[in-house]
Amino acid sequence: MSLHTQLSKHPRVAMGHLPTPLEPMPNLGAQLGLDLWIKRDDCTGIAMGGNKVRQLEYYLGKAQVAKATQVLITGAVQSNFTRTTAAMAAKLGLGCHIQMEERVKNPSALHHSNGNALLDHLLGATLHSYPDGEDEAGADANLRTIAEGLTAKGETPFIIPLSADQPPTGALGYAQAALELITQGKEYDEIFIASGSALTHCGLLFGLRALDDETPITGICVRRDRTQQTARVRQRLEDLSTLLDMPNPVTEKDIRLDGSALAPGYGRMNEETKNAIRRAAECDGVLLDPVYTGKVMSGLISAAQKLQGKRVLFWHTGGQPALFAYADEL
Ligand SMILES: *Cc1c(COP(=O)(O)O)cnc(C)c1O
Repeated sequence: MSLHTQLSKHPRVAMGHLPTPLEPMPNLGAQLGLDLWIKRDDCTGIAMGGNKVRQLEYYLGKAQVAKATQVLITGAVQSNFTRTTAAMAAKLGLGCHIQMEERVKNPSALHHSNGNALLDHLLGATLHSYPDGEDEAGADANLRTIAEGLTAKGETPFIIPLSADQPPTGALGYAQAALELITQGKEYDEIFIASGSALTHCGLLFGLRALDDETPITGICVRRDRTQQTARVRQRLEDLSTLLDMPNPVTEKDIRLDGSALAPGYGRMNEETKNAIRRAAECDGVLLDPVYTGKVMSGLISAAQKLQGKRVLFWHTGGQPALFAYADEL
């Protein structure tokens, strides 16, 4: 029972520009004493790209099987997931409803008018708002109410379910990415990647281990502290094992999380994150984002001291549209 075979049982709409490039970051690498590489999942190609394209290939595969006419999703106001959903839905001729959760306290005016919020609007999605950003169950219940309203109008709604009690469908895209990385043929001493819903982190980790690749993967916490995120990753790996109908190949020591770049919290930058964003841009012309990849690079920079001379892969997961919503902090 191979990973490839198990993945092929899940419907997928192949829309991303894949494989994404794998490139060196020679200048920042030299400063840090690393052989530093970058996996360009910011270049997945749909409406400014990012990791959600790989995840949505599988969610929208299910939506097509369900003959959906409308897709619904909930997320932060500056969510890259909602923006990518709106774009992929448009291309597939589906309507899109986005519920925006207020997840960041005291945001600047740009938060609601620029970045991903602007793009959601341009992509023609119907926008709804939800006042609480930390109430997954409540946000999901409200989304179901919107879906019922659509059904009553003769539409076929498909909810993209993101709460942790739902199957980790998006992780299939990152198990697929593990196959892609191995095909690209380089080996690394360590991979750094964002760990938010944990579907990206879990998909890649599960995929690599299922392919007998033992590269250490450090997930950088961007949403919850290390203790909470470790439990989340452990649970989502079990869920992915069920979804793929394959034994979980990940051992407890494979679950590596670093919570040191999270402060002051989700969607908020500290000085180290701002510096990481500036250094990647100035050294190698690479644009990071304020919510996810800036923190991943900050975590990687902190770890560089103990990785001298090693080959390290920074997994860029996209998110740059949010830079414009944080202009007044940068
Ligand atoms: C959503 C997102 C992440 C986190 O991915 P998860 O699968 O939710 O852990 C990382 N980077 C960017 C840019 C994102 O939009």
